[in-house]
Amino acid sequence: MRFKWFPKQISKSISILSLTLLFFNCNQAQEPMNYNKLTPEEQRVILNKGTERPFSGKFEHHEETGTYTCKQCDAPLYRSGDKFDAQCGWPSFDDEIPGAVKRVTDSDGSRTEILCSNCGGHLGHVFLGEGFTSKNTRHCVNSISLNFEPVEINMEKAIFASGCFWGVEYQLQKVDGVISTSVGYTGGFLPNPTYKQVCTGTTGHAEAVEVVFDPKKVSYETLTRLFFETHDPTQIDGQGPDIGTQYRSEIFYLSNDQKATAEKLIKLLEDKGLDVATALTPAVEFFHGEDYHQDYYIKSGGTPYCHAYTKRF
Ligand SMILES: [Zn+2]
Repeated sequence: MRFKWFPKQISKSISILSLTLLFFNCNQAQEPMNYNKLTPEEQRVILNKGTERPFSGKFEHHEETGTYTCKQCDAPLYRSGDKFDAQCGWPSFDDEIPGAVKRVTDSDGSRTEILCSNCGGHLGHVFLGEGFTSKNTRHCVNSISLNFEPVEINMEKAIFASGCFWGVEYQLQKVDGVISTSVGYTGGFLPNPTYKQVCTGTTGHAEAVEVVFDPKKVSYETLTRLFFETHDPTQIDGQGPDIGTQYRSEIFYLSNDQKATAEKLIKLLEDKGLDVATALTPAVEFFHGEDYHQDYYIKSGGTPYCHAYTKRF
């Protein structure tokens, strides 16, 4: 893990490169070479961060049940259940599909711009604290950045920690039925930690991966089996060459069903003689990691130095 923190200049280049190459991280979205062709007006908004005229977009008063997807890459972005009427002239949502939308400071220095996490296409801006709904959040999105599919996406979330999050994400994001993945930090006490802070081993956080998946296509048990089969669950406070509590093996469960599934699999491994060190902990806040850690092996083209598959069940 020694080389994971890049000098500022290099990480900045990677982050620009990731937007330039429009990297691929979502099974349901298209690969960059297959992105949908955009009209000049769509390009003005989606690529050049323009804004459509208020009260002119086709989704402002759209009320069908389904999923709003990215015009450029088809990634699912918003659910109709999170749409509300802010009477502002653009479609508004108080939540996004987990991991689907990226927030960055706008070039005006004050507003927060929202982008499709998959392709980097401009969506609009997000505003907090306006009191429209209980979530106190308004994603103000250009209709022209969206398509609509009359299909409801059923999603579940899982959080796994098993050493260097690059490799954990690499293994999980390949699974059919995984909608999105994000590497980050959880389980500690320091809010909004940076990679460098977590590296000190004093924040209590583990490097972890948040997985959003469609339970109709892949079960939590399948993902948890893969988690156990792509790291050494008997190693305490480390994984492979990475030593420290931030590299511990831990499942952060989000429901009693997830907890029961994990307990069942741990028991199966213990019955096979493994001294499982994996901790089982209720999920707490997940802090997304820095851009240059996301989709690391997709961007670098490499393969994990640990996290190879080993059949254990
Ligand atoms: Zn997109």
